Amino acid sequence: MMQTPLTLTQMMKRAEQFFPKKQVVSRTANRIHRFTYKQIAERTRRLADSLSKLGVTKSDKVGTLAWNHHRHLEAYFAIPCMGAVLHTINIRLSPQHISYIINHAEDKVLLVDPDLIPILEQCAPELKTVQAYIIMTDEDDVPETTLSPVYQYEKLLQEANPEYQYPKDLNENDPAGMCYTSATTGNPKGVIYTHRGIVLHSLAMGLADTAAISEKDVALTVVPMFHVNAWGMPFAGVWFGTTLVLPGPNFTPKLLAQLIEQERVTITSGVPTIWLGLLKELEEGSYDLSSLRGILCGGSAAPKGMIKTFEQKYKIPFLHAYGMTETSPLALFSSLKSYQEELDYEDRLELRAKQGILVPGLEMKIIGQNGEVTWNGKEMGELCLRGPWIASEYYKDDRSKDAFHDGWLHTGDVVTIDEEGFVKIVDRTKDVIKSGGEWISSVDLENALMAHEAVFEAAVVAVPHERWQERPVACVVLKEAYKDKTTKEELLDYLKPQFAKWWIPDEILFLEAIPKTSVGKFLKMALREQIQNEVLK
Ligand code: AMP
Repeated sequence: MMQTPLTLTQMMKRAEQFFPKKQVVSRTANRIHRFTYKQIAERTRRLADSLSKLGVTKSDKVGTLAWNHHRHLEAYFAIPCMGAVLHTINIRLSPQHISYIINHAEDKVLLVDPDLIPILEQCAPELKTVQAYIIMTDEDDVPETTLSPVYQYEKLLQEANPEYQYPKDLNENDPAGMCYTSATTGNPKGVIYTHRGIVLHSLAMGLADTAAISEKDVALTVVPMFHVNAWGMPFAGVWFGTTLVLPGPNFTPKLLAQLIEQERVTITSGVPTIWLGLLKELEEGSYDLSSLRGILCGGSAAPKGMIKTFEQKYKIPFLHAYGMTETSPLALFSSLKSYQEELDYEDRLELRAKQGILVPGLEMKIIGQNGEVTWNGKEMGELCLRGPWIASEYYKDDRSKDAFHDGWLHTGDVVTIDEEGFVKIVDRTKDVIKSGGEWISSVDLENALMAHEAVFEAAVVAVPHERWQERPVACVVLKEAYKDKTTKEELLDYLKPQFAKWWIPDEILFLEAIPKTSVGKFLKMALREQIQNEVLK
């Protein structure tokens, strides 16, 4: 067989050649834009030309700090196709972490949305490698800013060459993108995606037994483009000629419902928090969402009650999948086998609330205390994965050896697997808190609290939350001398300047002692049970 390189260049080329009339619908702060793939392909070439004029060359990192919109999509292709590396930055990280990852990735140019400029202004004094900022605005002029030098995206495009030629010598193993994942302790860890990995992952997104993305779809990508490449939907969508709908900044459940109705969206993707919000909206307003063939849900476990309400009350099928930043992300997909379709609804629901079976192309093993676990739905072990779209290390990071060894990614997720191969996540090896699909490190919060002069011990645990899925609650044991003098507000005010707003615990509980394991570690499971009733009441 021929060894032709699997690169992103062929994806955009295919959209331009075969689907020039198909559209990208993009909401920005001001309005809804509609571009054909013919236009998007030309704008993408112009962006690549502009970046090369700004000095971006092969392997340079170009960062994006942006919502989901057409300019971000253009960056998704222009940067990798010109041989550079697309670094999508999570806008919800703290300024300290954002500065860290920009410096660690060595971003040369940053593309930023106008409303996110203040975040970069805070980081700018720390940034060591950034040579230019491009503002992705609809306005003719860039807003007043201390960032320098700044360029207006559309002006750069106007002056650029529409016939720009992408380099022909891209290697499929060249880096195309990168994304940082929050670590349980310390700084975020970077994952590099290769062209080959992204192309093969996109094929997997098109399989009939996974998300089945196709030309016939109108795909609303709610999951942020800074979260694992929006689960690969923009790449697969462009390649397959799918109509993409990008919801832009600060969207609400109402706006999502309106977009689904107006654009006749067939598939949409996001974390459970988003869908809980949409359910609430559907209960309050009246929308025609009959165009939807599926809601793709992942990032944390989809609650059974939510799946049931969508399916039984609103007749919207639910697609449950599992993955992580290190896995591009698609790894498991909960699609029933033909003979399982004959089970009762409740039994089917039980199966579909699991994370599913392994996606073709990947390999899996589950390692328990005594080696590989039995497929009995009971024995627990750590899920390990390998395959062409699974990372093999963290980018320039000593912590790689903890997760990557013996040729496998050790996911840190504790799972069971049943006789049919359906995997269920039962817990995490680390007690990280998931809030609105984002991670909060309990250990970082604990360490900060325990640095306060009045605090003897502190443990932070997740409690379930209706809207955000989980929220942090801090349990604090005060030193004797401070017992009557220290307030909850004082400790919260102490944390606020150190963390992003959404990291701050919802509650601080003062306890006499924190339950411990036999080796003196905090027994978080017991602590969760102990506090749950107090917080949830
Ligand atoms: P991230 O790298 O931020 O995408 O987070 C990946 C982690 O999210 C995984 O290691 C799991 O712990 C969790 N996760 C992802 N999808 C699911 C799911 N469908 N059900 C339960 N947990 C999930």
